[in-house]
Amino acid sequence: MKIIIVGAGIGGSTLALSLAQLGIDYVLIEQAPALTTVGAGIQLSPNGVRVLEQLGLGEQLKQFCTEPDFHKYSVWDTGETVLKTPLQPMVKATYGHAYYHAHRADLINLLTAPLDSSRLLMSTRVASVEQNEHSAWVTTTDGHRIEGDVIIGADGIHSIVREQVFKSGSPRDSGYASWRGVIDSDAISHLDIPVSACVDMGPRLSFVYYYVSGGKKFNWLALGRTNDPLRESWSQTATREEVIAAFDGWYDRPKQIIEATPTIFVTALHDREPPDSWVNGRVALMGDAAHAMLPYHAQGAVQSLEDAWVLARTLELRGDSPLVALKHYESLRYDRASLLVQQSRSAEGWYHVDTPEQIESRNARFRSTSARLEGGFSPQQHWLYSYDADSAALGTDDEWRALRSWS
Ligand SMILES: Cc1cc2nc3c(=O)[nH]c(=O)nc-3n(C[C@H](O)[C@H](O)[C@H](O)COP(=O)(O)OP(=O)(O)OC[C@H]3O[C@@H](n4cnc5c(N)ncnc54)[C@H](O)[C@@H]3O)c2cc1C
Repeated sequence: MKIIIVGAGIGGSTLALSLAQLGIDYVLIEQAPALTTVGAGIQLSPNGVRVLEQLGLGEQLKQFCTEPDFHKYSVWDTGETVLKTPLQPMVKATYGHAYYHAHRADLINLLTAPLDSSRLLMSTRVASVEQNEHSAWVTTTDGHRIEGDVIIGADGIHSIVREQVFKSGSPRDSGYASWRGVIDSDAISHLDIPVSACVDMGPRLSFVYYYVSGGKKFNWLALGRTNDPLRESWSQTATREEVIAAFDGWYDRPKQIIEATPTIFVTALHDREPPDSWVNGRVALMGDAAHAMLPYHAQGAVQSLEDAWVLARTLELRGDSPLVALKHYESLRYDRASLLVQQSRSAEGWYHVDTPEQIESRNARFRSTSARLEGGFSPQQHWLYSYDADSAALGTDDEWRALRSWS
């Protein structure tokens, strides 16, 4: 059985590594001339770290990640923390895997370095996707036809595989944007910022920040409404003055961090309605192509890691029938990822309340949640973190029961 993977992002690269580990033939097609790295941080919860460790990448991962001690949600004007949930060391003790913060460049290097270069086609853009009863093939923009048994669209939010085979609408502009920067930690050492996953929440704006690169770098992200016609892009820049101006009236920390940032990037935030199905015959979707979500739960990439292992494992288990394997993959993954698309959309409201009354009510709710959890995990964290992609693929997990309790 030969698998054609379109797109070598976090999802497609992890699928390639998973297939290689299970001895399944594949070709990985990427339009970019090089697997370039984006200057931004990424949060990796234990459900994703579990997949990376299963692929034998745990030791290397540990070298460049930081392990935050808590998730901390604080108030914009005083800096008071109103909700705190544990991470290191409790998350590892409870779920067997750490919660990490990483620089995306390090993560992409980790995933792409072990790829078999003879199976990786760079500078190759897929233009069309077709299939018949016996096989499936892509045609590239330079006219080459590449044939296999199965095609996986891991080609991101603007997926051509999704557009051609599933014909399911366009990305939805949320009206919000994310400004971000990565700086040397030395530049903010005088601020004494803890090694936590920090979120400061204000009116219409929130500020997320944490250390990456083993503590050597520091990553921040501001999320707020925009009226500018922004693109979705990892390379569009914004001025420091305009971002600092948005934090007028806030306590000092966000402004001090932004002031220390040489280059600020901005991207519009989009998600997509889940398509009716991720599978059509020999063609399936994964990652953002299947379930592009807003970043409020930091799960987009992590879900693509889960997809990758479950998909590779179902292809291994049902190698005799790729069509059955793909449908099985969909049945195991669709509800969880689609629910996260919706949950991430709902969280947008929490991050961007407006009036003083709404802010007070949010603070009160966060304080009471913090008290109720008594230093433990929330039910949503438990649902997310306890997911074991291998048990899910084998059907020995509790996911269907957990999902029923959510819906
Ligand atoms: C501001 C922000 C913060 C985020 N923070 C987090 C976080 O903390 N944790 C987390 O888990 N997620 C986070 N995410 C989400 C995460 O970035 C995405 O979910 C993840 O990168 C998706 O990976 P992917 O491999 O599915 O798609 P992509 O990374 O988009 O990769 C798709 C690949 O396909 C290639 N491609 C596209 N079309 C073609 C074609 N026609 N032919 C060949 N190749 C093609 C592209 O060049 C690309 O390499 C965040 C997102 C944003 C916007």
